[in-house]
Amino acid sequence: MTKVIAMPQSDLLRWNVRTLLEEKTMAYVIAQPCIGTKDTACVDVCPVNAIHPHKEAAAFALARQLYIDPETCICCAACVPVCPVRAIYAEEDLPDRWRHFIEINRSYASPELPGLKA
Ligand code: SF4
Ligand code: SF4
Repeated sequence: MTKVIAMPQSDLLRWNVRTLLEEKTMAYVIAQPCIGTKDTACVDVCPVNAIHPHKEAAAFALARQLYIDPETCICCAACVPVCPVRAIYAEEDLPDRWRHFIEINRSYASPELPGLKA
């Protein structure tokens, strides 16, 4: 027999949010073709400001490419069609030769590294 556990609405909401956060491992990733292009078209359309560095940031001139912060990205795909060089992919669709760009994007946003703070 199935046992049904009653849960107050607020606890249920908390549980759902926590589960969603714990399961959020996928994000969009900027790969090799951005290097040397960096036109920032993707920055302008991202609704959650997940793509860095911005043109006016000190780090922009030194950055080889732009990077997506996986913790901020909501996987809306708005950045994909505006990229002129097809540099942006959902993690699961990244070509094998560019899988290492998952870590490159993630590292840029990491609090231990200078990326977003520069
Ligand atoms: S997929 Fe959406 S949220 Fe993620 S970086 Fe692109 S535009 Fe921003
Ligand atoms: S639109 Fe494409 S090429 Fe331009 S900055 Fe974004 S990822 Fe790089």
